[in-house]
Amino acid sequence: MRRQRRTKIVATLGPASSSPEMIAKLFEAGADVFRINMSHTQPDKMRELVKAIRKVEKDCGRPIGILADLQGPKLRVGSFKTDSVMLKNGASFVFDADDTPGDETRVYLPHPEILAALEPGHTLLLDDGKIRLVTTAATKTRAVTKVLVGGKLSARKGVSLPDTVIPFSALTPKDHTDLEAALDANVDWVALSFIQRPEDIAEAKKITRGRAAVMAKIEKPQAMTRLNDILDIADAIMVARGDLGVELPVEKVPGAQKQMTRAARRAGKPVVVATQMLESMISSPVPTRAEVSDVATAIFEGADAIMLSAESASGQFPVEAIQTMNRIAIEVESDPTYRGIINGARPEAEATGADAIAAAAHQIAETVDLAALVCWTASGSTALRVARERPGPLTIGISPNVSTGRRLSVVWGVHCVIDEDAHDQEDMIDRACRIAFREGFAKAGQRVIVVAGIPLGTPGATNMLRIAYVGASAADEN
Ligand code: PGA
Ligand code: MN
Repeated sequence: MRRQRRTKIVATLGPASSSPEMIAKLFEAGADVFRINMSHTQPDKMRELVKAIRKVEKDCGRPIGILADLQGPKLRVGSFKTDSVMLKNGASFVFDADDTPGDETRVYLPHPEILAALEPGHTLLLDDGKIRLVTTAATKTRAVTKVLVGGKLSARKGVSLPDTVIPFSALTPKDHTDLEAALDANVDWVALSFIQRPEDIAEAKKITRGRAAVMAKIEKPQAMTRLNDILDIADAIMVARGDLGVELPVEKVPGAQKQMTRAARRAGKPVVVATQMLESMISSPVPTRAEVSDVATAIFEGADAIMLSAESASGQFPVEAIQTMNRIAIEVESDPTYRGIINGARPEAEATGADAIAAAAHQIAETVDLAALVCWTASGSTALRVARERPGPLTIGISPNVSTGRRLSVVWGVHCVIDEDAHDQEDMIDRACRIAFREGFAKAGQRVIVVAGIPLGTPGATNMLRIAYVGASAADEN
């Protein structure tokens, strides 16, 4: 079973898609990675989903990625004496440390560290950015604000603070519990929400200790300004356009998406573009033209993966949404303009043997007609450096580690096959050809490139490149 595209698809599971039969259908339709949103999933349910996904993986014989997305520090206001209050433009409104129900003049803010960090001039956004206020005076326990854009406010609505660096960790007590449960369940990726600084990722990595790879969701402007430092530590990033579009003016999100996809490619780390990609398909079997164009834009930018949220988690057409993404990706990747656009955004190779080999493999693939690029990759690092080049032929990654195969399921253009390490160079070439044949990438008489680091199993030691013919014997024993 192989995909006809390079861009991967992440599908969020939820009430519309949690039965084992549905998960199998979504995989068949094109989902490469399943996302479990811990904001809405209890640990018991998460374990059940992981079990169902692993069963599909076993039945189809392909590694599947599982991403547990932690809720993070979502801030909320307290409650009100009435169902809701009306904040009028120009009025003054106070956030304080008094936990009694509020009214049109004040509300409890159950986060003392925020009251302490707010300064005059800082913006507050309430209820997904619908209400906007600016701080005019602040003490450690009370912030006086002026309503710039008013509206109806009810209990426990979300608060965003685009200007304030909040001095707390990105992992709440709930996140700690969920993270332990996800690691115990052997998920491949964990995503961190509302991170602000590289230290937030370092803190999570101290807990994961390599048991799962860590994806940083970029959904705060503070994280945008530290993007490169975050990319140094994180294993991947997500362009989390939902919350980013609350904390930043929405018109800044497309540029931010471009900056993030380029920075991630330069760093050789996967980037997932997320949220509202096919939003209308929550209730319609066909997307809008604008949505198709949005998905296509992410693919033309060379994003590693595109993501579905409510479309696959709670919408009426989860399978159709994945099929739609699959078709858009196949079509865009075969458009005559695609290769030029992808090569145009190609980052310089770094001065390492691995990058020299990856760049050479890309170059050779443009010179001679190749059926596939095969790389031996124990940790996945060789495959990541090859993917960073965005070469023309599809890449087969051969790894002895099932966890590597699962993690690489989010990476652009890599089809991972789990197989034992090669015994010697001859075995390495021979098996690369056999696997390329067996997986449907190459026919007898076609050429493949084989990339590896010798001795095998030394991460980052990529130092070998061979052009090999797939001989008639590759078909034997297959
Ligand atoms: P969420 O994150 O779906 O967990 O909010 C993605 C986003 O904000 O875009
Ligand atoms: Mn979010």
